[in-house]
Amino acid sequence: MATVVAFHAHPDDEALLTGGTLARLVAEGHRVVLVVACDGEMGEARPGGGTTRLDELRASACVLGVSRVVHLGYADSGHGPLLHPDPSDRARFVSASPDEAAERLADVLRDERAEILVGYDPNGGYRHRDHIRVHEVALRAARSAGTPRLMEATLPREPILRAYNVVSTLRLLRRYNGADVRCSFTARGEITHRIDVRRYADKKRAALACHASQTAGTGRSARLFCLMTRLPLPVFGLLFGREYYVEVGTPSGWLD
Ligand SMILES: [Zn+2]
Repeated sequence: MATVVAFHAHPDDEALLTGGTLARLVAEGHRVVLVVACDGEMGEARPGGGTTRLDELRASACVLGVSRVVHLGYADSGHGPLLHPDPSDRARFVSASPDEAAERLADVLRDERAEILVGYDPNGGYRHRDHIRVHEVALRAARSAGTPRLMEATLPREPILRAYNVVSTLRLLRRYNGADVRCSFTARGEITHRIDVRRYADKKRAALACHASQTAGTGRSARLFCLMTRLPLPVFGLLFGREYYVEVGTPSGWLD
């Protein structure tokens, strides 16, 4: 049985990108540790009732069966042309030294004797600056700790581009520009692992639903998040029942 450390940028990324894989790994007897770079408190949606986004992350981790959750201590940096302002008590992830962040992650990898680290593709998926930094930090940390395998979570670019072309004609995604989408995620031919997680769709949807602050507000992303967590399970499984990775170096089976 292996120990897998999944490194994510913000609370909710673990469920969106890798929730099914993490639940499946746990069900198959592996130890899963979740590391998040940022606390997510600088985002648009504000949690209410004293619940923080790290509390939501811990609830999501519990649903997925994760054994340990670690926050690397950074604040999130924002998406788009404007950076969030500097918080007084901690560094934004993109302002911090990548080597320092990598050492914090490498400490967890060494402590856990991790065999697999999960990071992000070089585009950081949809090109959020914190996600791009996750890619860089994961590479450095795996090298420093000598972690044998690095799996970069991603999505196939082509269907996203097709969907973007449809919705952009309806003016639903003004926040993103076409150039960003065309170089987001990973071309299908470069993906090394497609993990079937349809049997774990219930856990993935329940983990997503733990991030209640993301459904608050009237913004487009809140509405989308809300819709995702309310999809009937068979539809949710159909849309989100596969998760994708690029293994850095020589690809092999997911856990052989
Ligand atoms: Zn994120």
